[in-house]
Amino acid sequence: MPLYGLMQDRPLLISSLIEHAARFHPDVDIVSRLPEGGTHRTNWAGIRRDACRVAHALKQLGVGQGDRVGTLAWNSHRHLSMYFGVSGAGSVLHTVNPRLFPEQIEYIVNHAEDRVLFFDVTFAPLVEKLAPKLKTVHGYVAMTSREHMPRIDVPNLLCWDELLDAQPADFTWPEFDERLASSLCYTSGTTGNPKGVLYSHRSTVLHSLMELAPDTFGLNSAETVMLIVPMFHANAWGTPYAAAMVGTRLVLPGPHLDGRSVYELMAQEKVTFSQGVPTVWLMLFQYLDAHPELDPKALGLKRVGIGGAAVSRAMLERFERQFGAEVVQGWGMTETSPIGVVSKLLPRHEGLDDEALAQVKLKQGRGVWGVDLKLVDDAGEVQPWDGTSRGHLRVRGPWIASGYFKGEGGSPIDQEGFFSTGDVATIDADGYLQLVDRAKDVIKSGGEWISSIDVENAAMGHPAVAEAAIIGVAHPKWQERPLLIVVPRAGHVVDRASILDFLAARIARWWLPDDVVFVNELPHTATGKLLKTKLREQFKDHVLPTA
Ligand code: ADP
Repeated sequence: MPLYGLMQDRPLLISSLIEHAARFHPDVDIVSRLPEGGTHRTNWAGIRRDACRVAHALKQLGVGQGDRVGTLAWNSHRHLSMYFGVSGAGSVLHTVNPRLFPEQIEYIVNHAEDRVLFFDVTFAPLVEKLAPKLKTVHGYVAMTSREHMPRIDVPNLLCWDELLDAQPADFTWPEFDERLASSLCYTSGTTGNPKGVLYSHRSTVLHSLMELAPDTFGLNSAETVMLIVPMFHANAWGTPYAAAMVGTRLVLPGPHLDGRSVYELMAQEKVTFSQGVPTVWLMLFQYLDAHPELDPKALGLKRVGIGGAAVSRAMLERFERQFGAEVVQGWGMTETSPIGVVSKLLPRHEGLDDEALAQVKLKQGRGVWGVDLKLVDDAGEVQPWDGTSRGHLRVRGPWIASGYFKGEGGSPIDQEGFFSTGDVATIDADGYLQLVDRAKDVIKSGGEWISSIDVENAAMGHPAVAEAAIIGVAHPKWQERPLLIVVPRAGHVVDRASILDFLAARIARWWLPDDVVFVNELPHTATGKLLKTKLREQFKDHVLPTA
């Protein structure tokens, strides 16, 4: 007979997070900028009250346990209360990325079989267009007040304020198996149909704990966090849940993500920590370039969490020098909840010079408890952690996906239970993972791999470069050679030769792009990554001068 421990077997449920926040941090602010305009202020007690009302409203709308509830919404107190109200009631919060193509949204909502769709007024025209094609949605809730109700023709249109005002302000959360589904988020699917990642209460709560660790993002009650990463992107990196766990003060920017709005909101709300993908920070930098009179150090921003794409040296240094802020890089995926590895220094790095420190900080990071890492070559052979051997990255852990919703795409899991990420990486002896590329973006020149991340990061260090992308273009001798596509920084003049000279001093000779072209902007995916498929299509006939 196994000897069981005598500890209470309480399920790990999302409802416990909002209960904790409302009990121990009731009057901590939740500040939102609304799509309708203006700033809204509530607190954790207010979020709990609305979450309870959402749970009652779902009952009224006939939404049951396990039923999916869709959202097309920005970061706001309303979306936040749905995070807790929908999942807490035992239904599944399906955050739909509104930046996807309408056909993809239609596919996703139908695939998820959403019962009700909640939306911000911004998306009213989109919702009206899609509604006739959404087979399972039987009701629509505009997340706004009566006066801002959109005049659109969709079945059973309700007003958020009216719906919630009619509900009791308290709700007894049901207790159930912690392994039940809590939320659903589709990967952007740059190739093929998007696939649904179905989180559980257990995975969400365990992941939140890790987000609080000082060696990761270290969320705590003294912090004011501005959540720039959208709540429709991998649960906003889990921060809404983690914030509730410790009563963090939250600032939610709504749709206002341009450089000026972000800067002003940071200043106004005295934000200490903010999370977002590199593209939003580039927008902030562009605003600062145009306003040299501003002093970002005065913001008092202490840390920025960056993930979703690589942090360039230029970005790291700008945050450190111009803002006086620490950069905490993370690598992850929708499928990893998303924390996989997080980049923090170790005590033994103390005293290293700036150059050596930057090399460590630019790695994606070290594994956190709960995430096992493995590198394998094309034949599936495990690769050593020596900082140079490259391999396909696989990960395993209690908040890593075991498959996709409704079994789409087959099993992504190997025999040892590791999930194939589609990324190629190295891991060094200290356990720092460095991403080489998405396997599908790797440039193969004469049988050797060129890391597009390394070349792009080096290019972005050029003072006149705002953003850079590198792709492989057909070459008669080397199969593929790199082409660099550059967006110049506003107010700077730049030419091909100066960029190539700059790169020559920083990267291996045979990695040097064979050509450089200049564009006004680069295409991005719905989650802010460079859209390489589009660039490859656009430049597929580009003739390299070396060809
Ligand atoms: P999408 O739905 O667009 O795939 P994800 O956030 O799930 O959005 O994307 C995950 C991918 O993003 C990873 O597999 C990796 O290629 C890339 N990525 C995430 N974090 C980083 C990082 N810090 N550096 C480089 N690439 C990253």
